Amino acid sequence: MRIVHIATECAPIAKAGGLADVVWGLSKELVAQGHAVEIIMPRYAYIPQHILEQFEQTAPPLNSYYCGNMVENRLWKGVFQGITITLIEPHASLSFFQEEAIYGMQNEAERFVYFSRAALELLHQRKNTIDILHLHDWHTALAPLILKEIYRPLGLHVGATVLTIHNLQHQGNIAPAIIEEIGLPFRFHELQDHYHTERVNMLKAGIIYADAITTVSPTYVNEIMHHEYGCGLDSILQTYSYKCHGILNGIDAEDWNPAMDDYLHLNFSVDEGAEIFFAKKSWHKRFLQDKLGLAFEDGPLVASVTRLVPQKGTQLIEHALHTTLHRYGQFVLLGSSPIPHTQQHFEKLAATYTTNPHCHLELRHDEALAHQIFAAADLLIIPSLFEPCGLTQMIAMRFGTLPLVRATGGLKDTVKDLDSPHFPWEERTGYTFDAPTPEAIDWALGRAFHRFFEDRGSWNQAAFRAAQIDHTWRQPTESYLQIYQKLI
Ligand code: ADP
Repeated sequence: MRIVHIATECAPIAKAGGLADVVWGLSKELVAQGHAVEIIMPRYAYIPQHILEQFEQTAPPLNSYYCGNMVENRLWKGVFQGITITLIEPHASLSFFQEEAIYGMQNEAERFVYFSRAALELLHQRKNTIDILHLHDWHTALAPLILKEIYRPLGLHVGATVLTIHNLQHQGNIAPAIIEEIGLPFRFHELQDHYHTERVNMLKAGIIYADAITTVSPTYVNEIMHHEYGCGLDSILQTYSYKCHGILNGIDAEDWNPAMDDYLHLNFSVDEGAEIFFAKKSWHKRFLQDKLGLAFEDGPLVASVTRLVPQKGTQLIEHALHTTLHRYGQFVLLGSSPIPHTQQHFEKLAATYTTNPHCHLELRHDEALAHQIFAAADLLIIPSLFEPCGLTQMIAMRFGTLPLVRATGGLKDTVKDLDSPHFPWEERTGYTFDAPTPEAIDWALGRAFHRFFEDRGSWNQAAFRAAQIDHTWRQPTESYLQIYQKLI
């Protein structure tokens, strides 16, 4: 099959979040299974020079329509682990993608609408047949409509379009004029935003016109059809529920493997047997305690590795910190917030605990420390208010760290409670709670602490089992392929 992703992120090239991991992880596995995959992305000035150097400029340049004129774009091609990546660089006069970040610009919608049309123009000019055109989130959700209105009539052959919604909260509501700038005729009322009624909603266009919609877990696909999680699009999603699917994300088997993790000073693996596995995990706990100035104790080490945004349940994280200390555990937080007052709030909290030997807050992004925490911790808390899929619970399990999660979205699909009679013991790999309240998370923490102190044998049994679960991209890719095949 020939599959083309049009995306704004791809893990090793430009990453802001989970979308980048999905585009990369899925593509890698598709290539491993013998499919041809291309990813088309903007050429951000933000991409590090050593990566840009691995691309070659291709000729001729691509001319694409914008505001009544044809604009020249430079094209760059690179091949990474068998995946062709094409970067589109709009003419400098447009000043698109010149900033040192992927998102957060005033003209964000304009640049991604322009990019979506330019990507389709590129496919059209090449005259190749494409089996699947795979779009991601609101940024490229207009592509199925552009295809239908402009490029299919011009002869571009695409078997089917798939739109993956990574997070329904972000929808791209934009001024209608932005759509007109790329020459797209459209029906305003069909795409009208539900909250900002003078604007149009790009994600809604994708939901209506893509041949299939996927989102990143089976529970999330059901949740978003209801008012509480639907972010205003629940009724339109219900209308198109027949083409919606939930497929869990995988985690990169190479990036998240304690047996060959370069960030760890001591690698460990389930293949060495449970005794060595846990002896090495204890070594990592000591290492982290030493590194962060914590007391050398063997009580439960509770961790949180997260963006500090409302979605992640920041108040519950803070509450869990207090509960952990109260119950004689240790707490480590690695997180940063794009919201200034949240960042300041946690900085103040960190200051009050600077001399506490049982608590450490590190309020920044630190890839190495994240890996070391996953290796050292006993419990990783993820009390999200909503969570389309979530990766950290799967990463934690790989490192023999039990996740404690709010049962929502992908967290619900991947973590089965150790105390739940509804699942066989062999399937239970963490702790869950339902209500997003301090009482509920306390209840789960209380049960976890009880088992940790009173029945370490069964705790280790579950942690060892969790480390053996296959959360790679193999199974998710099978599910995507089934959808692709059905569509074409
Ligand atoms: P989201 O994409 O919503 O932020 P996920 O659980 O899907 O949440 O993925 C988060 C990823 O970001 C994980 O790989 C996690 O390790 C990483 N991460 C989050 N915060 C930090 C941080 N402060 N430092 C290093 N890595 C982080």
